[in-house]
Amino acid sequence: MLLQHTHSYYAASRHPKVAYPALVGAVDTDVCVIGAGYTGLSTALHLLEHGFKVTVLEAAQVGFGASGRNGGQIVNSYSRDIDAIERQVGAEPARLLAAMAFEGGRIIRQRVAKYGIQCDLKEGGVFAAFTGKQMRHLETQQKLWARHGYTQLELLDAGAIRSVVATERYIGGALDHGGGHIHPLNLALGEAAALVSLGGVIHEHSPAVRIDRGSAQTPPVVHTPQGQVRARFVVVAGNAYLDGLLPELATKSMPCGTQVIATEPLTEDLARSLLPQDHCVEDCNYLLDYFRLSANDQGRGRRLLYGGGVVYGARDPANIEATIRPKMLKTFPQLRGVKIDYAWTGNFLLTLSRLPQMGRLGDNIYYSQGCSGHGVTFTHLAGKVLAEALRGQAERFDAFGALPHYPFPGGRLFRVPLTALGAWYYSLRDKLGV
Ligand SMILES: Cc1cc2nc3c(=O)[nH]c(=O)nc-3n(C[C@H](O)[C@H](O)[C@H](O)COP(=O)(O)OP(=O)(O)OC[C@H]3O[C@@H](n4cnc5c(N)ncnc54)[C@H](O)[C@@H]3O)c2cc1C
Repeated sequence: MLLQHTHSYYAASRHPKVAYPALVGAVDTDVCVIGAGYTGLSTALHLLEHGFKVTVLEAAQVGFGASGRNGGQIVNSYSRDIDAIERQVGAEPARLLAAMAFEGGRIIRQRVAKYGIQCDLKEGGVFAAFTGKQMRHLETQQKLWARHGYTQLELLDAGAIRSVVATERYIGGALDHGGGHIHPLNLALGEAAALVSLGGVIHEHSPAVRIDRGSAQTPPVVHTPQGQVRARFVVVAGNAYLDGLLPELATKSMPCGTQVIATEPLTEDLARSLLPQDHCVEDCNYLLDYFRLSANDQGRGRRLLYGGGVVYGARDPANIEATIRPKMLKTFPQLRGVKIDYAWTGNFLLTLSRLPQMGRLGDNIYYSQGCSGHGVTFTHLAGKVLAEALRGQAERFDAFGALPHYPFPGGRLFRVPLTALGAWYYSLRDKLGV
């Protein structure tokens, strides 16, 4: 059976989709990209803009993975902040990574403008704090980001946050004027169309099932069920959906699920009362909730899209609505009685440090994965950095490559329960406000 987009609000409201034919036979190219999520699409687009021949292989459909299912929130910086990176690699190497922490969001906006991508881009993202400790963390973050040249984070006191989110839950927060939100699947589809307009080739329903890795003298060959791609370079961008294709990439990461629900279309008055400025919001808990309004759905009204929950090991959750709806009602009790039209799950890739993994295997195989939750901006940056490396400019690629990667304690058998235990501990601390 051919894998199709999951039943989500995004798939139901996507632009008419071009079908890209499966690969049949043998082809030669400069770069074979495995995976048509943001990492793969961004890499391909940057390479094509610099004159490379690129073939993208996608196991299912463009945007089938996290890139077509996510919360749509453009969140700056990495899943661990710059201070954590400084502690890991030291102040000087961290400076280069910090200089890139705000670039992904700018790349998205450039892409949207340059290629005319219709993806409901809205500006402004809010971090919402429940506790004084979380508020102090945001204050530190504001100073930290400012130290690295980013001054668009505005602190919100209790009164100010109520003017952007209609809930009594938060004691304050921060508004990132450089944050924002998009229809994630339409962004991916728009980027795919852009890369094809530059002569790139996409093959859907063409899983890479084996890679002959090649050497300095022999080019690698990627095999699909009905074809092969011989390329100078391979970029592996399968992230949490890669499965066992490259075992080295599986040992230091763990697929995790997170779930999103979409309400029925709301009256405009109700929608505007919830999020008057139409910003997206994520809270500051370790296991966080994230939410925003959709665009007007074919004149019927805007929907609230509410996400949260983490399933370690990415098993399919039994009842998504039963898990996420109570979270939504805790934030917005005024939505009691509102119907849920869509509920879906998607997988992101967690690393132990929660920092992304970028690197090279042998001479010709490059990869980037493991954004650990916040990947919309990073994946767009990663594509640019990988493309630079393939063009022979590896300074920024090497800065990511220097980040240490650790295996999860417990190995493949016990990493899920041990990580869940760790998350339970951190979420208990959030609940207790310590
Ligand atoms: C529900 C959810 C909500 C999220 N919300 C946010 C958010 O609001 N903000 C944010 O910053 N981040 C968010 N994230 C994270 C973000 O979506 C991801 O980090 C990002 O989209 C990852 O992009 P990617 O291209 O690396 O991987 P993916 O988008 O998962 O793409 C990987 C692609 O590779 C393909 N593939 C895998 N193996 C093969 C193979 N062997 N051959 C060919 N193709 C293959 C898959 O089919 C898939 O299409 C969320 C994630 C999820 C799941």
